[in-house]
Amino acid sequence: MVIKEAKFLMSNTRVEQCPTPNKPEYAFIGRSNVGKSSLINMLTEQKNLAKTSSSPGKTQLINHFLINDDWYLVDLPGYGYAKVSKGSREEWRKMINYYFQKRENLTCVFVLIDSRHEPLKQDLEFINHLGTLGLPFVVVFTKLDKQSATKTDSTIAAYARKLRETWDELPRFFQTSAEKHIGRDEILNFIEEVNEQ
Ligand code: GDP
Repeated sequence: MVIKEAKFLMSNTRVEQCPTPNKPEYAFIGRSNVGKSSLINMLTEQKNLAKTSSSPGKTQLINHFLINDDWYLVDLPGYGYAKVSKGSREEWRKMINYYFQKRENLTCVFVLIDSRHEPLKQDLEFINHLGTLGLPFVVVFTKLDKQSATKTDSTIAAYARKLRETWDELPRFFQTSAEKHIGRDEILNFIEEVNEQ
């Protein structure tokens, strides 16, 4: 897919205020600092479309972007930032769950995982939660350039093993590096295929 246009539409906290759900929507989420903004900027080929927050975890907003006038890309607030209070975490959980359950045009959730780390409980719990909700999702391993291919393979194999403990079928896995521009075509082609279905 060629990205002809990518524009920011709005940020808000409630599904009711999101843009009219008349186009397929793809949401990106992961632990804070996983590389979500960098990935979104790589996909859209814009330097600062998704902004890196200076205080991670503070902005709990659903950010909508319109791509090629054809589909929505959504930047969801990240999880797992240590300094966030219990109250804010609970707010995040409520907002995200409400969005997942009510956003009727939500087509696929992209769960970002830092490829350097062994499976983290919080990420596994989040993935399992999506599976329980019955939402289509894929897993995107980020920051491939930070370590050897062998290390990346071992992280991915460990995630596959863990997920097989719960699910018969594994989600699709993507390998990316915003730094080295890896994985862009694969993700955009996937979105194009799903849009055409
Ligand atoms: P976010 O909090 O998930 O939006 O993460 P950011 O996109 O702001 O990235 C967090 C940090 O990781 C920043 O310092 C980025 O420069 C760095 N980063 C993100 N993606 C990559 C990548 O693919 N390779 C490398 N080497 N660094 C990355």
